[in-house]
Amino acid sequence: MYKVGITGGIGSGKTTVCKVFEVLGIPVFYADTEAKEIMIKDAELIEGIKSTFGKESYLENGKLNNKHIASIVFNSEAELAKLNALVHPAVFRAFDTWEEQFSTNVPYTLKEAALLFESGSYKMCDTNILVTAPADIKINRVMQRDNVTAAQVKARMDKQMSDGEKAKMANHFIINDETHSIIEQVLALHKQFLEVAANSQI
Ligand code: ATP
Repeated sequence: MYKVGITGGIGSGKTTVCKVFEVLGIPVFYADTEAKEIMIKDAELIEGIKSTFGKESYLENGKLNNKHIASIVFNSEAELAKLNALVHPAVFRAFDTWEEQFSTNVPYTLKEAALLFESGSYKMCDTNILVTAPADIKINRVMQRDNVTAAQVKARMDKQMSDGEKAKMANHFIINDETHSIIEQVLALHKQFLEVAANSQI
């Protein structure tokens, strides 16, 4: 199966772009949503988190103790790296399982991940897309969507790899500002992927 990774900074509009691909019939795996689910479902991952961050990482009802985990990883890159080293392989496994259901009945699949490049996940994709938008537009979008301040969005942005760094690893770009049509850009890429995917199945 031909695999397309898609990523972009906070508020770039990667999820919005994925919804357009979904309208075209392309299945999308949302890695970040999946990560949250498997952290309370995948027994191997749960065990790994408990042994690394303590049994108190989970509440009695089985839910993740977000406060506890956040207090450990929020200000420590080393601890965050430990958490990612547990979660990312589990998400890769979940993606493989998810993808099996499609066999040959879809031309390609899309994997949306905020950390597509940072996690190394892009290496498991045949190609990838970076969604970009100017910083001020991204900040305004997230302020409205999440009801947060510009400073809070900027703090989250500062923790992410810059678009310049991501661009070095990107194969395709979608500009999601206020002047370019994302529908036209998605249609153009969809056409390309259909051709490449068809040729790669021969
Ligand atoms: P995050 O990494 O924070 O999850 P994201 O990259 O997935 O963000 P979206 O959630 O798709 O971004 O978009 C952020 C907000 O901006 C959403 O409320 C979305 O509806 C809006 N948005 C995205 N693209 C556009 C656009 N072209 N025109 C208008 N609104 C947009």
